[in-house]
Amino acid sequence: TQALSYGLTDLIYQSMQIILFSCIVFFIYWKLALVSFVVFPLIMLPVARIGKRIKSYSRQTQQSMADLNSLLAETIQGAYIVKSFCREDYEFQRFKEINNNYYKFILKTIKRTIAVAPITEFIGSATAVIILIIAGHDVIAGKLSFGVFGLFLAALMSMIRPFKKLSNVHSINQQALAASQRIYTILEEKPKIQDTPNAESIDNFSQEISFEDVWFKYDETKPDFILERITFKVKKNEMIALVGPSGAGKTTIANLLPRFYDPLKGKITIDGKNIKNLKLKDLRMLIAFVAQEMILFNDTVKDNIAYGNLEASEEDIIQAAKKAFAHDFIMQFPQGYNTVIGDRGLRLSGGQKQRLAIARAILKDSPILIFDEATSHLDSESEAYIKKAINNLVEGKTVFVIAHRLSTIQNADKIILLDKGKIVNIGTHQELLDKEPFYRRLYELQFKA
Ligand code: ADP
Repeated sequence: TQALSYGLTDLIYQSMQIILFSCIVFFIYWKLALVSFVVFPLIMLPVARIGKRIKSYSRQTQQSMADLNSLLAETIQGAYIVKSFCREDYEFQRFKEINNNYYKFILKTIKRTIAVAPITEFIGSATAVIILIIAGHDVIAGKLSFGVFGLFLAALMSMIRPFKKLSNVHSINQQALAASQRIYTILEEKPKIQDTPNAESIDNFSQEISFEDVWFKYDETKPDFILERITFKVKKNEMIALVGPSGAGKTTIANLLPRFYDPLKGKITIDGKNIKNLKLKDLRMLIAFVAQEMILFNDTVKDNIAYGNLEASEEDIIQAAKKAFAHDFIMQFPQGYNTVIGDRGLRLSGGQKQRLAIARAILKDSPILIFDEATSHLDSESEAYIKKAINNLVEGKTVFVIAHRLSTIQNADKIILLDKGKIVNIGTHQELLDKEPFYRRLYELQFKA
């Protein structure tokens, strides 16, 4: 509103100036004034037209800038999702497309701006010449004194500035160019985690996943570790729950498995192979993420579900949606599976989002599943559907649940109880209830409420 009110006062102020000076000009020498006021608008017309087009371009530029920003925001926020579904190329392609659009508009705007400047200059000079010829004629004929002519000219000149200000096309180009520079810096950042030279392929696993004395911190300059001495094993097709107060390190453990980060000490193995020596793409193909806030790209329902499996057929997608109990609500959308969702499309409820995330993971069909449960409260109908959807999802999978709910911890084969980055105890729900006072307290506090 500040910009708006400023623009408004400016508009009134400049218009007043123009009116005032016009009165003076007409009062001094109406014949000449008439000439300059008739000739001037005639030549101004094409200029105004170009100006209008520039405005529409800069609006389009802003729109594509907004598109670019929203894509960037979701890709950066959702970097884990993008990486875990091995969709970096796809996102890069989308970015390039939007970016190209954006540049096209910027270029058009700049071209038009450059074209306008000489035209206005020319019109100014032409008007001046015409006035001089007429006035010169009158002065020579003795109809007009030099003094009055000088006054007339001064008043006419004073109108140029407010006119220019009024027709000023606000350019966002500088700002936009600076922003796109920042984008390139982000894109050019080399990922720290990469394949080792002799990285091994892997397409499944048969025995177990093992964390062996894993130590980790995000910021290596800080003295405290985020994870210390993390050691545990998960057998194939087991479901383990990571439980602990907020900040205990549950998410961090889950992030180490797809190698979003590497441990500082210790190792993580799959069937005895250190995951550091596996091909990153292969490793991430083994793992499907169901994130608490699944990011919804401004894309159709169909593409959202197919995110982790580009080869999926229409039929596969519908099957996955059915298993995730999402098919029915999708069919009620205006365009069914082709409805666009995200911040520029249809907005979904928490329960619907979670079920789409589950459908996405079902379709990816990876042997390992990392499931970050929704903390937000869902309505009981959603809750019931999600429970069934999860049962379909976890069947025959090795599952890591970042647990916030009673039902999953009770179903888990093993619960890893964490506090301040250390494992406090490991056991089943019943075992921990019997022997671990810290678990009992947490259970009363967090899960039973
Ligand atoms: P939980 O999932 O159990 O709530 P997290 O694994 O998210 O815990 O966090 C463990 C600790 O690591 C917290 O102290 C948190 O502040 C810190 N942490 C989490 N993510 C990052 C990050 N990307 N950079 C720096 N510190 C982080």
